[in-house]
Amino acid sequence: MKVKLAKNSGFCFGVRRAVNMAIKELEVENTKGIYSIGHIIHNRDVVDDLSRKGLKVIENLKDVDGGTLIIRCHGLAASVISEAKNKGLKLIDTTCPYVFSSHRIVNSLLKEGYSIIVVGDKNHPEIQALCDTDDIVVVDENTDFDLVNIKSKKVGLIAQTTLPFNFYKKAIRAFLKKGFVELRIFNTICNDTKKRQLSAKRLAKSVDCILVVGGRFSANSKRLYQICKKINPRAYHIENSSELDEGWFLKEDSVGIVSGASTPDYIIKQVADRIRNIDISCKDKKVVVKS
Ligand code: SF4
Repeated sequence: MKVKLAKNSGFCFGVRRAVNMAIKELEVENTKGIYSIGHIIHNRDVVDDLSRKGLKVIENLKDVDGGTLIIRCHGLAASVISEAKNKGLKLIDTTCPYVFSSHRIVNSLLKEGYSIIVVGDKNHPEIQALCDTDDIVVVDENTDFDLVNIKSKKVGLIAQTTLPFNFYKKAIRAFLKKGFVELRIFNTICNDTKKRQLSAKRLAKSVDCILVVGGRFSANSKRLYQICKKINPRAYHIENSSELDEGWFLKEDSVGIVSGASTPDYIIKQVADRIRNIDISCKDKKVVVKS
């Protein structure tokens, strides 16, 4: 089988930066503990590796009285950061600069009296960190935009960094029709997301079977899988090579590999190597396409 790798694979800039910052901090001797609220990135293998190096993942700051808090790549709510400061924790902020830029926009819009609509997944840590106040409305693919009721005449619209651009355009068109006196639209979708989704689309069209390698909780990996599945029914989402199923492949298939932004290179290589080593000797083998 031929294996083709998507152009934009492996860690994105924000994830690489966050992981490197965390590793650097974990190398410093620390007797009081190093913590992160939630996983600093959405990849199980990397998170396990960081925990072997000493990072303790906690749900909140209740039981922590000292030590270091590593703020994850998706950011943390301002109220939680102040709580950590009040407790005297040392802070290592690995928030991706793209995510941080959304925080800056939201803060300045709130100061100027705008209502804010965020297009994204309200359960995702990035959006939970961003929407630390009730004044922000979050909408997603399941929202009926006609029913969104904003009383303010001044509205700011921003997107989750990993949102598909086409869906953001749909939301923009819907909110333009609402007749707000002022609608300020910010393109907060990160460049890496745009490039990755484009490469995934191209590759999904050109191969027999396509694999998206990325964490189950990774928003960008789930998006990539949705994009690939729409184009190529033989698309599968796996976290690592142990989840590969030989029944997915036929002899002489071309297999594409797309990776989420938090998938390290070594996992992609393990997947590619394992596919290359699959021995498909039965020509009439049937491929089972999972929905
Ligand atoms: S996908 Fe974009 S926003 Fe998210 S961490 Fe990577 S560079 Fe930052």
